[in-house]
Amino acid sequence: MNIKSVSRVEPEPHIVKSNWRRKHEDFINAIRSAKQMQVHLASGGKLSDLAISPPSDNSDYVKCPHCSRRFSQTVASRHIPKCNSMQSNKPGLRNTFKAKH
Ligand SMILES: [Zn+2]
Repeated sequence: MNIKSVSRVEPEPHIVKSNWRRKHEDFINAIRSAKQMQVHLASGGKLSDLAISPPSDNSDYVKCPHCSRRFSQTVASRHIPKCNSMQSNKPGLRNTFKAKH
């Protein structure tokens, strides 16, 4: 067996600096496990031999109460107040703002 990608196991630091970074690492991990799967299948292995865990990225998602979309916690903390003000800035609701002036 002279398949490099099987024997080479790179340590993956689990430091989450920001959301895009985490998404990027998930993407890399997905590609890496897909490659490992192809190599494994090519060498006569079975899919059931591989313990590929799907990215559990949805577990900590927060649902926006205004638009019912789901975001990761970091995005949601920025989106929800913004989404709230966007909803209240819609034409027709501006009268309450003008009335104060
Ligand atoms: Zn929203």
